Amino acid sequence: MSNIEAQVSDYYNKLLLRNAGEPEFHQAVAEVLDSLKIVLEKDPHYADYGLIQRLCEPERQLMFRVPWVDDQGEVQVNRGFRVQFNSAIGPYKGGLRFHPSVNLGIIKFLGFEQIFKNSLTGLPIGGGKGGSDFDPKGRSDAEIMRFCQSFMTELHRHIGEYRDVPAGDIGVGGREIGYLFGQYRRLANQHESGVLTGKGLAWGGSLVRTEATGYGLAYFTKEMLTEHGESFEGKKVIVSGSGNVAIYAIEKVQELGGTVIAFSDSSAWVETPNGVDVAKLKEVKEVRRERVAAYVNEVPGSKLRLEGSIWDLACDIALPCATQNELNGAQATTLADNGCKFVAEGANMPSTAEAIEVYRERGIHFGPGKAANAGGVATSALEMQQNASRDAWSFEYTDQRLHDIMANIFRNVAKTAKEYGHEGDYVIGANIAGFKKVADAMLAQGVI
Ligand code: NDP
Repeated sequence: MSNIEAQVSDYYNKLLLRNAGEPEFHQAVAEVLDSLKIVLEKDPHYADYGLIQRLCEPERQLMFRVPWVDDQGEVQVNRGFRVQFNSAIGPYKGGLRFHPSVNLGIIKFLGFEQIFKNSLTGLPIGGGKGGSDFDPKGRSDAEIMRFCQSFMTELHRHIGEYRDVPAGDIGVGGREIGYLFGQYRRLANQHESGVLTGKGLAWGGSLVRTEATGYGLAYFTKEMLTEHGESFEGKKVIVSGSGNVAIYAIEKVQELGGTVIAFSDSSAWVETPNGVDVAKLKEVKEVRRERVAAYVNEVPGSKLRLEGSIWDLACDIALPCATQNELNGAQATTLADNGCKFVAEGANMPSTAEAIEVYRERGIHFGPGKAANAGGVATSALEMQQNASRDAWSFEYTDQRLHDIMANIFRNVAKTAKEYGHEGDYVIGANIAGFKKVADAMLAQGVI
């Protein structure tokens, strides 16, 4: 074992002890540290001044009680989180997730990933993430509003245009951002547009923000395909999930000539051999907020699947867009056996470490989430730019900016991988390119 390897494994072992019971956080850190060994062998000064230990320790971690009253008059108590991970290159920026599985370890993994993702966008945004174990499923609109108001009553003291700018994630869309913004505005007694992103168009939102993560994923994948002499034209594509990221990934993939042959939610998956009726999917999911079975009942030729896995289908391209660790090693092997050549992540860390190993061994070109799904946060930063200049850009202009950002991310990631002797390994490229900018800023700013 080289000196650097021993040093990194020592950091990691200490991190495991200090952050017990947080497997997702361990997984996210392990992947990044694995890539950083390569940088440290070449540029050992990045290990100076406790840089790696500081990078893995959030600047601030907030946990708070969120009490609210349900429609039956009962008091419910949830737990709120905001992890402000790193602000070396800009104010903390990252979404809020409302899902019963949320705990501190999940928010820390998401906040850690966000540091590198935000750095890759080339825009001045630091990394943070937050949320709650609140389950919005089955809750009335009034309950969602009361929960959001209580959540913001605590969160508002910790955020601000120059401090920390939350946005949406799983379970937090335009409706929730509206309630959160309303309560912030009331408590702060000012209309501070730049405090949240994903806002409605009438009150400081940006065109393309709703579409941005899914479209950005399709643009990134298009670059990856082009690099390998391919295109979306005629390709069979699986997109898991049917939330914000999945819907707009499906829309753009089909516009670019691919056929989306399956999508899912947590209740089932749906086979769509002739492609997805995007207008119907939006109506079912965004307007009526129903399960995927409703889509199948209304779209002839689509089939509801309650058994097996969405990854059992043969496809050319797989785009996991639901949640973390939704694609394991065995499923990655099935994808490879069935001829899949490209995987790009719309969700955060949807592939397990074993799945990524399979992609490497089987020659699957792989775009990791921190690069491939950065279009959402990049467009959030464009929303912040529009808020700061009291301006509103056109759809075409904003979409072009998003497209250019995703193409730049791909080029930067591919170039960095090559520079460090791992051509085509976009995991290593993304981790190193994202790291260097933040690390240089942290070194310049001293030990804080
Ligand atoms: P949504 O809440 O809009 O949709 C999430 C989708 O994933 C739903 O179809 C949901 O099904 C499914 N899903 C969620 N959790 C599970 C689970 N445990 N098992 C199976 N299916 C599940 O969220 P988004 O589309 O915004 O987010 C999806 C992923 O993309 C997340 O990993 C998020 O962190 C990531 N991401 C989101 C960005 C954004 O801009 N929104 C930006 C970058 C990354 P069901 O409705 O049945 O729960």
